[in-house]
Amino acid sequence: MDDTPTDMRQVRLRAEALESLLVERGLLMESDIDQVIAQFEQRVGPVNGAKVVARAWTDAEFKLRLLADGTDAIREFRFSGGQVERLVVVENTHVEHNVVVCTLCSCYPWALLGLPPRWYKDPAYRSRIVREPRSVLAEMGLEVPASKRIRVWDSSAEIRYMVLPQRPDGAEALSEKEREALVTRDAMIGVA
Ligand code: FE
Repeated sequence: MDDTPTDMRQVRLRAEALESLLVERGLLMESDIDQVIAQFEQRVGPVNGAKVVARAWTDAEFKLRLLADGTDAIREFRFSGGQVERLVVVENTHVEHNVVVCTLCSCYPWALLGLPPRWYKDPAYRSRIVREPRSVLAEMGLEVPASKRIRVWDSSAEIRYMVLPQRPDGAEALSEKEREALVTRDAMIGVA
């Protein structure tokens, strides 16, 4: 959908009309809506993925479990948001860079990363990242050294991927919260 201010205004008006109708008919309470919004604003989002990454950077045993079975390893965090019933975590190394796409639509691990960014749903990203990942990443500001192999992971209805970025030098000296703050959403998709 085109994101011009006019379109956004129309969407907002439609959402508001729908909301007041549902509330008026007693099908929905306003507090339900507030809860859903709070859910996605505060409890679901890249901050969850960052916790997992920060932990894997310092806990080798957890990292092994995470790479072996992502869904099982993150269970202890009790994240809500869903879309991680089969989570596969792929690790960036000095020889390999990973990037995630959903070529068919916009499958994405909500519980870890929140709602997907607009460009993730863009048909241009979805088709080009497979054919020419190095150029697309460069356009997005990430120059992957020629010595590194790039692997593109195509999400599906069953499998959701998350990238485990390389731990920056010196990160082990930071506090857990500081480490989490280093992890960005885009790094966990593999485009930063
Ligand atoms: Fe999809």
